[in-house]
Amino acid sequence: MKELKTYQCGICESVYSDEASCKTCEASHRHPIMIEKIVFGSYQSSPVPYPERIQFRMGDGALVQYVCERIVEQPTTENEVNEQ
Ligand SMILES: [Zn+2]
Repeated sequence: MKELKTYQCGICESVYSDEASCKTCEASHRHPIMIEKIVFGSYQSSPVPYPERIQFRMGDGALVQYVCERIVEQPTTENEVNEQ
């Protein structure tokens, strides 16, 4: 029997057989540091009340835009009350 050791990136959770590759993976990720722009559609054009696009400034200075793909979890009645 041979015991195997693996390493998991603490950010994306990818698993590696060697520590160096795992450290390279962790160092490769860039995190958003600020929301630069939030774009909503009108109530007539957008199927959801949430932003259609959000642009983030990343830690390395890049400006990256993310597009709403889907609602992952619908709001609960309790959360709607807390928003007001
Ligand atoms: Zn990673």
